[in-house]
Amino acid sequence: MAGARSGPGIPETSDRDRLTGVLVPVGPLELSVEEVRQLWSFIHGDIMDGSMRRLLRASLGLCPRHTWAYAVVEVELWQAGAGSRGGHQPFDVTILYEDLLDHVADGLGRKTSLLHRHPDEVLLPVGPCRICQDMASPSLPGLRMGYANSNTEALTVEANTLVHTTTWCLETVGLWRDRVCPACDPGTAAGTGDPALLCRFHLAGRRPLPEQLRHAVASRLREVRARMRHLTESMTDYGAPVGAEENTSWIEAIGFFAGWGLPLYLATDPEEAWLEPGSQPTEKGD
Ligand SMILES: [Zn+2]
Ligand SMILES: [Zn+2]
Repeated sequence: MAGARSGPGIPETSDRDRLTGVLVPVGPLELSVEEVRQLWSFIHGDIMDGSMRRLLRASLGLCPRHTWAYAVVEVELWQAGAGSRGGHQPFDVTILYEDLLDHVADGLGRKTSLLHRHPDEVLLPVGPCRICQDMASPSLPGLRMGYANSNTEALTVEANTLVHTTTWCLETVGLWRDRVCPACDPGTAAGTGDPALLCRFHLAGRRPLPEQLRHAVASRLREVRARMRHLTESMTDYGAPVGAEENTSWIEAIGFFAGWGLPLYLATDPEEAWLEPGSQPTEKGD
């Protein structure tokens, strides 16, 4: 991996330790019907019961592709909800990622000791992505049914438009653009940028992390989490409306866990992509 330019355009397949994930390349996700079916039922399941929460902590949520896919499916397909938007909001997503941000921040903030695993091992997922696992399991009649017999094919077409996800990304890009992981960002020269902004993949690639960097990342994650708490509340009947800093929090959280490929794609003007040296022009689907 040494010297290789890593970024969202270049999927990483390093299997150093347990880092077997592949970062989402810059481009549309193009979810399959089966992925949408699995994610839709994941959203409607008891994702936050105690044992599921422990599993999701250990695996650091889902793989990068399914982390973004999970947010996209919820944001695109959720029709009616509380809060000013009344739907098309990442509600389940923010609840799960509040928990995971806490988990990683606590792990990184821990003191090094002989009795416990090294603090930066919290960046290494233990266990597979649940959606990848379910997709690979033999099909059982009944389990392939869409949630509540919904027409999963139509939902897949709707999810893949990315209309609402794009709106979120564009509305908040002025805030998150300077907070992108420098190693995910094709506009940042390799090895430069603030290491405290690195996503979990690029941080894990730099282990062992100096204590100062671990603490800087932990406090950044706690700060994102605090803003996301207000965002979650704003999506309930009793929460106060929130502003742009809160609205951008879930994108920063998912960017940390899954890399920045999708928001960079959605917020990049295809005209501008031509101007960046070495970058490939991207074409957006309609
Ligand atoms: Zn997966
Ligand atoms: Zn990164």
